[in-house]
Amino acid sequence: MSILKAVRGTRDLLPPETALWNRIEATARAVFARYNFGEIRTPIFEDTALFARSVGEETDIVSKEMYTWEDRARAQSEKAQSLTLRPENTAGVVRAYIEHQLGESGQLQKLYYIGPQFRRERPQKGRYRQFSQIGAEVIGPPSAGSESPLRDAEILEMLATFLDELGITGWTLELNSVGSAADRARYNDTLRAALVPVVGQMCVDCQRRAVTNPLRVLDCKVPADQPIIATLPVIADSLDESSRLHFAAVMAALDAAKVPYTRNHRLVRGLDYYTRTTFEFTHGGLGAQNALLGGGRYDGLSEAIGGPKAPGIGFAMGEDRLVLTLQALESAPLLLADAFIAPLGEALNPAALVLARELRRAGLRIELGDGNFRLKKSFEAADKTARRIVILGEDELQSGILTVKTFATGMQTKVPRSELCIFLRQ
Ligand code: AMP
Repeated sequence: MSILKAVRGTRDLLPPETALWNRIEATARAVFARYNFGEIRTPIFEDTALFARSVGEETDIVSKEMYTWEDRARAQSEKAQSLTLRPENTAGVVRAYIEHQLGESGQLQKLYYIGPQFRRERPQKGRYRQFSQIGAEVIGPPSAGSESPLRDAEILEMLATFLDELGITGWTLELNSVGSAADRARYNDTLRAALVPVVGQMCVDCQRRAVTNPLRVLDCKVPADQPIIATLPVIADSLDESSRLHFAAVMAALDAAKVPYTRNHRLVRGLDYYTRTTFEFTHGGLGAQNALLGGGRYDGLSEAIGGPKAPGIGFAMGEDRLVLTLQALESAPLLLADAFIAPLGEALNPAALVLARELRRAGLRIELGDGNFRLKKSFEAADKTARRIVILGEDELQSGILTVKTFATGMQTKVPRSELCIFLRQ
């Protein structure tokens, strides 16, 4: 029989790496709480139409990367429904915002999520078919101030704080504005016209994009096309007065908070719903897939999926990439237990379980050995998994004085059972 393996583009996360995942998630929860965000959990699959209408039919995600299937109809009279594993979470959050009429409160909704997303991309380091995103959205009626550039700056400042607290140094924030829908339409026309004389020398993808979605030409990575792209008009020159002022206000607030950024005129991002501010945090340590996170404003998204006017801004971080970055920055985490308890002989196993129970209930991380093994073998196992070994023989049990060896110093100490907990915590 052939051996079954995890499906291409998916993977198992094992300890000690999972400790890093938990640390990232705990840091995100703690930081976001300080900015008064609450958690939302939406379903992992949704009606396919949700993604077609929000992310956009013309995008790579919707046109070729989604896991979509026809769900069996329950009754003869019913039509089969097309369902899709979520490729991102903003659409689901906005759907939930509309469905639960969260805008009725008149307040801004500040929601964050943590969970798996699915895209049928070509797998490589930092790019998987099942990956995890940590994201947040600020969305609400315009009367609640949802369009304010202060919201954009606050989200970016929160991200800088999160990365700093996580210990990720050396990131770059790239910033752009893609303007309003009208600005974008104007820029698309300008770009289409500018592409006419040069597109013949560009890659086949660009030739197609020049017709279907000229903005996507700016995403092209083909080296030979880069000098041509550098000569194309920039979107900043197509912004109207209000978009320009909005962007200037975002940058002024970032300057005041001393959040460093660089402008990137080509940052138009792969999802159609963005308006005005778009951003990406990149990290040099990641290689080809260097985007740690991306996001932007989406003032028309709610209306695009049938909801009320509800401007918003949000981001999604690739959790897999946060892990890779931290692993590159830190040496491998050593997750050692506080102590390994070694019973001398099978008869002492129950007493060892009792001791382990006491220490674990006191909050210590304990590895429990087995009296069926010889002491030499227990020492070898303990050396690999714990900082100390506690020997529990008949004498120790009777006298209440335990022998503890600390591996880092090689010191052997006699410790009364009543003081063991305090000793092990040192
Ligand atoms: P996007 O939803 O495309 O704006 O992506 C936001 C972030 O999610 C990116 O900056 C990446 O960090 C991460 N990401 C997107 N696609 C993948 C993938 N296939 N595998 C791992 N991380 C991804």
